[in-house]
Amino acid sequence: MKKFSWFLVLVLSMSIFLAACGGDEGDSGGEAESEDSGSTSEEGSEDTASQEGWVENITVLTGGEAGVYFPLGVAMADIIDSNLENVSATGVSSGASVSNAEQLNNGEAQLALVQNDIAFYGAEGSNMFEETLDNYSGVFTIYPETIQLVTLADSGIESVSDLEGKRVAIGDVGSGTEANATQVIEAHGLTLEDFDAQHLDFADASTNLQDGNVDAAFVTAGTPTGAIQELSASADVKIVSFEEDAMNSLMEEYTYYTQQDIPADAYENFDSTASTVAVQAMLIASNDIPEDQMYEITKVIFENLDDMANAHVRGEELTLDTAEDGMSIDLHPGVQRYYEEQ
Ligand code: GLU
Repeated sequence: MKKFSWFLVLVLSMSIFLAACGGDEGDSGGEAESEDSGSTSEEGSEDTASQEGWVENITVLTGGEAGVYFPLGVAMADIIDSNLENVSATGVSSGASVSNAEQLNNGEAQLALVQNDIAFYGAEGSNMFEETLDNYSGVFTIYPETIQLVTLADSGIESVSDLEGKRVAIGDVGSGTEANATQVIEAHGLTLEDFDAQHLDFADASTNLQDGNVDAAFVTAGTPTGAIQELSASADVKIVSFEEDAMNSLMEEYTYYTQQDIPADAYENFDSTASTVAVQAMLIASNDIPEDQMYEITKVIFENLDDMANAHVRGEELTLDTAEDGMSIDLHPGVQRYYEEQ
């Protein structure tokens, strides 16, 4: 028993001694690590030093997977994720513009692609928004989103008024497409009650058009839109032109519409041009993102424009020169500072 106690004392003191040594080693290891990152990676140390209050997880809201927001939003999230230390970013699919603006305003996400008309209505608290959404600001506009009224070539639908009594996809619930469809229809003297309006995202609208379950679909998106591309690979599609008077009244009433023609080579099996209107796609940021973090986010995106162009051809249209064209709301202060310095 006595022997054992001495042995125990010996073992205990040895382990205390070892633990002390280990602890020292561990401490100096930790210090060396932070010293290392301080001396060898200037960018890393700057980031760590200035990242106080930064939002670590960034959610980028896009739209449906068969649209243009989705590939571009995912590309932006990847750029942020791989270029900003200690920040992780993810692009997620969503109902698009209207719900994106609301979710961003509620703090459920940090960045979102939206239409410039919808961003404006949100900031003003007008149109479909009952309250002013004051917790987001502008980052950049990117490319025109064309209001495309798609149907099969043999549907017999030649004009918006031919939609009367038909089954029409008007976009996902909470999409900008739904808002544009309603405005376009009203500008042509109809209302949503004049036909069987269905809330479908672009992918479902395309499948249902192909299967004969809907007669036409509204799609507000950059061309070529994935969902229409897919449809036009196996069917002859037509995009219906809007009437000139209706386009003029739309542009007069809602300032963010511009006139736009869809060229004949926009899609496969599509051999007519179409006269329609467009809005602009833009990125908005939550005001919860600190100024210096938003400056860095803007900077890394503009330093990796190739990744945007590779994600979708419309990504090529993001440039510093055009970033403020059609900007419908105030810029985020971090974005403002970045532009001023360029
Ligand atoms: N502009 C569309 C909308 O807000 C979404 C476009 C897209 O997903 O590319 O409804």
